[in-house]
Amino acid sequence: MAKYEYDDCTFCGGLVTERHIQKPCYWGDKLIALADSVPTGVCEQCGERYYRAAVLKRIEARLKVRRTARDPIPRGRGRIEDRRQRDGVLRR
Ligand SMILES: [Zn+2]
Repeated sequence: MAKYEYDDCTFCGGLVTERHIQKPCYWGDKLIALADSVPTGVCEQCGERYYRAAVLKRIEARLKVRRTARDPIPRGRGRIEDRRQRDGVLRR
């Protein structure tokens, strides 16, 4: 695949080059996964990162598949919170 040409950095005007780096993926504010070697535009000057829409879509699709197939609900905390809520209701 040909290297993608990024626009210059919108913050400092520096040269943005593509690197394959790890990208943290958040679900709301919860870190749910680290995507490995994601093609990412990185500003040589300030380090700002730029993601291509197509790349983000691909990651999203991959995460969705994984979530529905193996672990649709983040395990542990959600359930505990549910129980606490239920207990609270019962006590009242
Ligand atoms: Zn920059």
